[in-house]
Amino acid sequence: MAELRSRTRISLSETEGVIEELTTLFTGHHAVVEPHDGAHRARIDDAAIDFELEGTALSMVVEAADPVALNAARHLATSMAAFVTRAQAPAIAWEGMTEGAATRPPDLRILRLLSHENLTPRMRRFVFTGEDLNRFDTPLHLHARLLFPPPGGVDPQWPLLGAQGEVIWPRGHALAQRLFTIRWIDAARERLAFDVFQHGQGGPAEAWFHAARPGDQLAMVGPGGHGMRSAKSHLLFGDETCLPGMARILEALPADAQGVAIIEVRDAADQMPLAHPSGILLRWLHRGSVRAPSGRLLADAVLAAIPPDLSTSIFVWGGGDAATYLLVRRHLRETLRLPKDAYVLYPYWKAGRRGDQLGEE
Ligand SMILES: Cc1cc2nc3c(=O)[nH]c(=O)nc-3n(C[C@H](O)[C@H](O)[C@H](O)COP(=O)(O)OP(=O)(O)OC[C@H]3O[C@@H](n4cnc5c(N)ncnc54)[C@H](O)[C@@H]3O)c2cc1C
Repeated sequence: MAELRSRTRISLSETEGVIEELTTLFTGHHAVVEPHDGAHRARIDDAAIDFELEGTALSMVVEAADPVALNAARHLATSMAAFVTRAQAPAIAWEGMTEGAATRPPDLRILRLLSHENLTPRMRRFVFTGEDLNRFDTPLHLHARLLFPPPGGVDPQWPLLGAQGEVIWPRGHALAQRLFTIRWIDAARERLAFDVFQHGQGGPAEAWFHAARPGDQLAMVGPGGHGMRSAKSHLLFGDETCLPGMARILEALPADAQGVAIIEVRDAADQMPLAHPSGILLRWLHRGSVRAPSGRLLADAVLAAIPPDLSTSIFVWGGGDAATYLLVRRHLRETLRLPKDAYVLYPYWKAGRRGDQLGEE
């Protein structure tokens, strides 16, 4: 396979568990890890990453057939090694094939807007085209991080991967980043859509979508997040921001699936048709024009919908504002002690907090 090669030797003060943790991380990133010439080899896409301990150093060698694949693998190796050795924060410098142009990150796609339409008074669908969308076309990972250039017709610049595996952000203008759900994707036709709730509180995503015209570009990184797992009983919940993910999951559930989907919207005008198995009951909750900050409206309905007998398997998927998310998560984790693989929950937004600050407390 490989004609191009690059290597790094990372000096460590502590090596215990490093190889095992790297193996787990590479495997989690869809690499196949197997023994190779006394080292470990992670094979991913068109590249191979060999890693082993040499005394107190971690040696990594990346091989690939072309510079783009080499840089992508170098980026992955750098990120994984930096994460595993984060307590030591060692210097990571690559040798070999480090000259030349930076390449596009392997998980980044540039999208061009084709059209948009209103689905409800506050929900708008945006259809984009982009090349090479296969990695995003999976029911396992529904979300993508969208990179928004500033409004005003600036010729957008996108991040690149440098030859040390580092991301180089464009100079001159910042790219705002927010998470959105791929509502539908047709990789063969190079098309995908996002359904965007106009929350009316301002923000770069809302501003970009509001001003967007066919031909405008944004970038997408990912995919991430989780879809539904099969169970005897399903409980889905969320507000408008979760509707795209919920709609995708409902469409994909088997025809005999059982359960309930509870959706909070402002009023009846915000309800939209959702294809769903007949055994899944749809319940719409109307919060009215003023949103209570407690998150209780949706959370109380969700907690009341959990079957009393949890000896049959249940899977819970949902989110919404951070207050609802916390109430439901606490109940599932602390009161019901459901196993972790029985639910996938996200805070989709938090009152008074920008989407890129969601994880910060
Ligand atoms: C995994 C994931 C998937 C998501 N998928 C979608 C999707 O498919 N469609 C979609 O529309 N949204 C989706 N969201 C939510 C979206 O990322 C946030 O609403 C985001 O904050 C919007 O960015 P912004 O730039 O418009 O506003 P920001 O700059 O992030 O926030 C500005 C202000 O608006 C407020 N705000 C943000 N969202 C809301 C809201 N829904 N209601 C009321 N106030 C709000 C914030 O609290 C803040 O005060 C998703 C979020 C996550 C975490």
